[in-house]
Amino acid sequence: MQTTKSLTLDDLTSFCVRRGFFFPSGRIYGGLRGFYDYGPLGAELRKEVLDDWWYYFIRQREDIVSIHGCVITHPKTWEASGHIEAFYDYLVTCSKCGKNYRADHLLEDIGIQVSTLTAEALSSLINEKGIKCPECEGELSTPTPFNLMFTTYIGPKRDKLNEAYLRPETAQLIFTNFRDVYYTMGMKLPFGIAQIGEVFRNEISPRGFLFRLREFTQMEIEYFVNPNKLDECPLFEEIASLTVQLLPAELQEKSVDTPVRITLQEAWEKGLIHSKWHAYWIGESLRWLTRIGIDLEKIRVREHMKTELAHYALQTFDIEYYFPFMGWKEIEGISNRGSYDLKRHQEFSGRSMAIEDGDELVIPYVIEPSFGLERILLALITDAFKVIQGRPVLSLNAGVAPIKVAVFPIVDKPEFTRKAREIYKFVKKHFTAIYEEKGTIGKRYYEADEIGVPVAVTIDGLTLEEDTVTIRFRDTRKQIRVSVKELTQTLTKILQG
Ligand code: AMP
Repeated sequence: MQTTKSLTLDDLTSFCVRRGFFFPSGRIYGGLRGFYDYGPLGAELRKEVLDDWWYYFIRQREDIVSIHGCVITHPKTWEASGHIEAFYDYLVTCSKCGKNYRADHLLEDIGIQVSTLTAEALSSLINEKGIKCPECEGELSTPTPFNLMFTTYIGPKRDKLNEAYLRPETAQLIFTNFRDVYYTMGMKLPFGIAQIGEVFRNEISPRGFLFRLREFTQMEIEYFVNPNKLDECPLFEEIASLTVQLLPAELQEKSVDTPVRITLQEAWEKGLIHSKWHAYWIGESLRWLTRIGIDLEKIRVREHMKTELAHYALQTFDIEYYFPFMGWKEIEGISNRGSYDLKRHQEFSGRSMAIEDGDELVIPYVIEPSFGLERILLALITDAFKVIQGRPVLSLNAGVAPIKVAVFPIVDKPEFTRKAREIYKFVKKHFTAIYEEKGTIGKRYYEADEIGVPVAVTIDGLTLEEDTVTIRFRDTRKQIRVSVKELTQTLTKILQG
């Protein structure tokens, strides 16, 4: 098997558009930067991944419940959270052509990685390196902070008083609903509240296909723990022996970029991960990412350095995936937010956020695994994109593949197509399936492989004689023969691995 080492972002983007996974939003009008619509296959893939996340992190657990909050949110929320004050990137504008750039991206483009610098530091680096407008070589303005929240108005009056924000993250809705969830559901610490939903960030320069969008989907859990019991994690054993590639802040501060291979148990014992609950959520996230098919070897866990820690965070780790065309990039963040958010909402709302834990009254600490769906899909598709015996194959895990079964008559003749349609109809009741009768059978197999269909069912001469079909496997191209009577059962077994 040959993996596509030379895979470029352009290859992947055009593949995803050509095969109906994603389309630039408003494409007939020239597109809208930072916005992608899901095509039919993308929409199925999205649903599979979201459903699995929901199952894994909510349904099968006892300690996590969900909410579904509003997109347009009470403006006070973002005053309390610090987003109005601190949720910005630095913008520079070309004095000649008027193009806008994100200051740190201009530096990144010439190989300088910046993790949060001040306006002055960015400005002097840009001057020192003699960076000009990449479009027209014009002079660039000094960096100014640009708030990333989208503004809208509630009601007919478009004035400051009626201004509101589209949520830039789902997390804050969990904090503003914290009291209601706690009291109505009778929650007991430790517990989590999860949410999936669209979020909006007016990114200065969207880039990297699905990587940096202006509208994307977050899957977040806020896991509440008694601050005095951050190391009392009864579930720790489940992940303790998992070996991860960890890049602690202290190594990065010495300009070391090579992670250490370490178990989560050791990482906690050595104090690299400050608490057992934080280590648990790193492990649990990695277990889910591998469950949906992402290769753990291409994942590293990178700690934020002091200079890049968000205003609310005590310790943060990024789960980074190695994209052959962009290098290591964050697909999930896992922060210990302390009690910052609940305390701020308590202060701004005047409502107590303290809850009981036995005899204690505490404002819980929060560990937050925050997954970005589109980045995870980008990693999944990148990981699955292979060339097998000279043919493109999307080797997606059967659990998340958008189409599970392809049904083909061996040739386009009425006796075969009639039977094949019958089988297709009943297969479709159980699995997402496609049917095709035109073209050679080989060509139809290759087309199905390219969009990641794990198995194809073929109706041939023997089907008519003895009521059996062949099942062909995408990744090995092996075939087995099974009776039509047992088809659903066999497919279920195969697709569940
Ligand atoms: P953050 O709230 O910035 O820590 O982001 C949480 C997660 O959302 C990240 O790990 C990403 O997976 C995802 N994410 C953040 N910004 C974007 C973006 N502009 N486009 C797509 N995904 C994003």
